[in-house]
Amino acid sequence: MKLLSYFRGEAFQRGVHPPSCKLTAQTQIRRLPFPPKVVVPLSQHIGKLPHPIVKVGQEVVRGEPIARTDDWLSVPHHAPVTGVVEFIGLRPGVRGPWVESIVIRAHPGSSQEDLWGQPRDLSTASGADILQAIWDTGMVGLGGAAFPTHAKLTVPKQAKVHTLVVNGCECEPYLTCDHRVMVEQADALVAGIRYAMRATAAVRAIVGIEDNKPDARNAIQEAIRRAGSLPEGEIHAELVPTKYPQGSEKMLIMALFGVEIPAGGLPVSLGMVVNNVGTLAALGRLLPAGRGLTERVVTITGPGVARPGDYIVPLGTPIRFVLDYAGAPDATARQIILGGPMMGQAAASLDVPITKGISGVLVLRGEDLADRAGLKTYPCIKCAECVESCPMGLNPSQLGMLAAKREYDLMGSNFHLGECFECGCCTYVCPSNIPLVQQFRVAKQILREKAVAKS
Ligand code: SF4
Ligand code: SF4
Repeated sequence: MKLLSYFRGEAFQRGVHPPSCKLTAQTQIRRLPFPPKVVVPLSQHIGKLPHPIVKVGQEVVRGEPIARTDDWLSVPHHAPVTGVVEFIGLRPGVRGPWVESIVIRAHPGSSQEDLWGQPRDLSTASGADILQAIWDTGMVGLGGAAFPTHAKLTVPKQAKVHTLVVNGCECEPYLTCDHRVMVEQADALVAGIRYAMRATAAVRAIVGIEDNKPDARNAIQEAIRRAGSLPEGEIHAELVPTKYPQGSEKMLIMALFGVEIPAGGLPVSLGMVVNNVGTLAALGRLLPAGRGLTERVVTITGPGVARPGDYIVPLGTPIRFVLDYAGAPDATARQIILGGPMMGQAAASLDVPITKGISGVLVLRGEDLADRAGLKTYPCIKCAECVESCPMGLNPSQLGMLAAKREYDLMGSNFHLGECFECGCCTYVCPSNIPLVQQFRVAKQILREKAVAKS
């Protein structure tokens, strides 16, 4: 551990310290009721679309598989509610374009118990069997990346993993779902960590937690103690300095071990695999029960919410229903951000559903936006604030100027645009209010489309 770095507060170079605004950090997780209908988009991750295995008019029970896939980079989906399949076709997607979806009308008064799946004993299962079981749950990274978890835990043949890094930083302002999961579901988290250690053959696991969440570290340490001596290896919970974007894989590994993942490389090149606490806690519950993912914890927060909190939300619940329940009924007059304020994106519509990768819904009121709406964008004054804040050591000012000239290829080839992970630090500090990260998102999307067109 980089203890010396911790005491110096030098988790990693650069980064920023935005106000934390963790309004819901000490509020217990609550459960949202079923909405009248859920909308399950088939595209919630990379990889090919899974195909529906239900028909319109068919009765389904909560937890029943409704879409399957053979593509390793894709995952199945399960019915979040007991009800009737009402529609299969295009519905508004979280990112804007309409996407193939399954709409289920919930039976009024149906139970929130999962009615599908058989408990199973995985105590002697091989790593490959555990990976298959994880795939069957339909699990993707619940921290927001939505990368299929079984694929992330698959160690390439030529590599060897010794350490599972468990990401409990939750550095985004406002978001507290991971924090509450660590405090309230620590036993499930330890169980999930043990499954992931067996899947990857890692012999130790380190949970990295920002030092503004000491109660989370205490809860996990208690759960580790309760679990006793573990055949998989050792699990530790470590505090790291609170700093944005501490929750990115590269920054967390730097804070915990003082080593840098090479440019373009992955943690596995250092013998490590990183997974989020929410993902592993969910696996700790689902795997022994033989069930699929039907719900997740979402932070509903912001000055525009009367009852902010961390809610267990059935997947596919329309955001409009979530906001009504949490006390933000007049939501159309406000800005709705999916995720946190640094990396989140504005909701395309209030009819889009909660998907597996949505960790928060942030509601800003008109008065919260008044100042920002009045902010004018000015030319770059070459102050280098953005360069000083970029944790990847990029030159956002230069990239911004190239983006303005639509020199996207040059941004990728000469200025390492691919290393930008859209943390938003540069935009946050820019005194000229240049929407740098927004420009970089567009540039990356255009380069991706060009690459697809060429292939
Ligand atoms: S958004 Fe990209 S360029 Fe800007 S600070 Fe983050 S990594 Fe650097
Ligand atoms: S922070 Fe803004 S004004 Fe300063 S150099 Fe970067 S882009 Fe230019």
